[in-house]
Amino acid sequence: MSAHCPNCQQLLTHSDAGFDCRHCGSHFGEIAICPDCHQPLQVLKACGAVDYFCQHGDGLISKKRVTFIPDVAES
Ligand SMILES: [Zn+2]
Ligand SMILES: [Zn+2]
Repeated sequence: MSAHCPNCQQLLTHSDAGFDCRHCGSHFGEIAICPDCHQPLQVLKACGAVDYFCQHGDGLISKKRVTFIPDVAES
């Protein structure tokens, strides 16, 4: 999945810290989305590990399956 910068419409680069726009330098947080029901996942952080939990019936989601989208409301 690809995400685009809301400021300049360029492709965003995803890293562990979120999304960055190499074009205009904007940084965005990330939102974890359930691959099954496409609702935001609850992020559970424990002992350095992060788990993603779907509150809509899909349970724990492996990070490999999580879809990340930029949190464009945050600047
Ligand atoms: Zn940009
Ligand atoms: Zn789900």
